[in-house]
Amino acid sequence: MVGITHYLRVAILASRKAIAILAATLLLLTTVFSHAAQDEHPSKATSSTNVILFIGDGMDEHQITMARNYLYGADGAFAMEQMPVRSSVQVHTLREDNPNQLRYVADSANTASTLATGLLTSKGRISTSAAKDVDQETILEAAQKKGYRTGLVSTASLTDATPAAFAAHTSHRNCQSTKNMAEINPIQAKTQQCALDLKAHGGLGSIAEQLATANIDVLLGGGMALFNQPIEYQDNSRLNILEKAQSHGLRLVTTTNSLQSAVNTGQLLGLFANGHLPVEWRGENNRRAELITTDEQGKAIFPTPFSCEKNPHHNGTPTLAEMTEQALQVLTQNNNQGFFLMVEGASIDKQAHLRNPCGQIGELQAFDQAVAIGRQFYQQHSNTLIIVTADHGQAGQIVPLPESYLAASEAVHMAQYPTGHYAVLKTLSGELMAVNYATNSSPQGQWEMHTGNNVPVYMEGTGLDDVPILIDQRDINQLMRHHLKLD
Ligand SMILES: [Zn+2]
Repeated sequence: MVGITHYLRVAILASRKAIAILAATLLLLTTVFSHAAQDEHPSKATSSTNVILFIGDGMDEHQITMARNYLYGADGAFAMEQMPVRSSVQVHTLREDNPNQLRYVADSANTASTLATGLLTSKGRISTSAAKDVDQETILEAAQKKGYRTGLVSTASLTDATPAAFAAHTSHRNCQSTKNMAEINPIQAKTQQCALDLKAHGGLGSIAEQLATANIDVLLGGGMALFNQPIEYQDNSRLNILEKAQSHGLRLVTTTNSLQSAVNTGQLLGLFANGHLPVEWRGENNRRAELITTDEQGKAIFPTPFSCEKNPHHNGTPTLAEMTEQALQVLTQNNNQGFFLMVEGASIDKQAHLRNPCGQIGELQAFDQAVAIGRQFYQQHSNTLIIVTADHGQAGQIVPLPESYLAASEAVHMAQYPTGHYAVLKTLSGELMAVNYATNSSPQGQWEMHTGNNVPVYMEGTGLDDVPILIDQRDINQLMRHHLKLD
């Protein structure tokens, strides 16, 4: 496998040479004709160079299909599925105890680190190397050095693994705020205890503190409780992390109204919940997937169908699309250079962990609406690379309806039913769709686990013609770096 991956990388690099020659030719032509073009279209946007990376957390093909079936039926397609270039992405994870070996199921920390740095690492790590704990430069940091503006947007706490991996470096994703740093976690490796990241021990401190001082132009998401904590030490100002962020030039907004009115105000920190943002949808009567029981004759009793509904707790929370729109405003205001922006739909994953198909579907729809904002931006700013991908697989599977299991039961005179948790959804077009979660036994299991399948990547922009149909997450980092000319 390593050989195949290497071959693919060589193929990409070789094709890039050709692309570079083509790009140079096009640049020459563009330069020749640009004055005329500008005269004809004086209001046309500047040719800034931009990358928008959308990460649907846990958004593998199964989760996309489930949401598409529910929302649009057989004929529909998400905005991301209408993008012109598509590839399949292998997900690789190193072992912390032996980085020469792989694990085949990842977490959001190591995969976001790979997307951010172009290097593989072990589970739980935030842009640090497996076992050796060396900080790895992220694309956001490299972009900043070249004068690009940067932004991170998430429906999770901003200190959560995915946004953290683009601008912080810790041995473990749990090192989110000051109070986490002294906790000893017995299920984490000795080399991944947060105490190693204390400034007192030569580290960079908590993720919240690192984000607060990372000079990022726009940070929008949740996590107020993680930022509203004292900084570690070594600072006579006695500011907490939130105040420190403000002293570094970030303007704080906490409501949808203040977010929407925050234009022309420079750097922006939006914190719209104490932790993760509330999700957009829930199941009717709060229903999720349920365990299948059997009656006295041993016949399976399947849960009754239900629909999804809006989650009233989401009221007043900005949507991911609204946050993306505002981030783009901050990043483009008087900016000729360009930007790197990462937008995460975090709770597709978090709701799959909780066996909540309606939560997942609502979050996937919200994520796709944010992608649609990115695609609109691309229409006006053609030197933008839009990449939409997932970090790893999740547990939800579309499985047969109860009638199929009952027919099978009659055929073999024995109850047939799926293990795990099962839900039958009434889709918007009135059809039934059954969903099952079975990566962790019940009732002992707390929640569902990630899975190890490939994830999709959808792309739009220049320089994508020769992307192989099978790539890995390091290649996505390379494509983004190449677009921003960071190589
Ligand atoms: Zn997860």
